[in-house]
Amino acid sequence: MSGNLNLTSRRDRTRLNLMQALEDAIYFRRLRATEACLDCDPDGTPCDDHACDLRLIGDYRRSLDAVIAGVVVTGGDTGLPGQ
Ligand SMILES: [Zn+2]
Repeated sequence: MSGNLNLTSRRDRTRLNLMQALEDAIYFRRLRATEACLDCDPDGTPCDDHACDLRLIGDYRRSLDAVIAGVVVTGGDTGLPGQ
């Protein structure tokens, strides 16, 4: 399903919660990624921790895009509460 969310629908509420959790995770990782770090290389190469943050931001963004597009949580048991 794509388009408007129906907040009386358990599936759509779960979808909305998942979208919010991913947005929060992206925000958290972005804050971490912008912190000053002595382990990151001055040439801009991130340390392992910050490289992980950047990779996760991309992963979370793709997951969020998939949820928005209705690819995820469109049917069946997702294992998420409220299903
Ligand atoms: Zn770093």
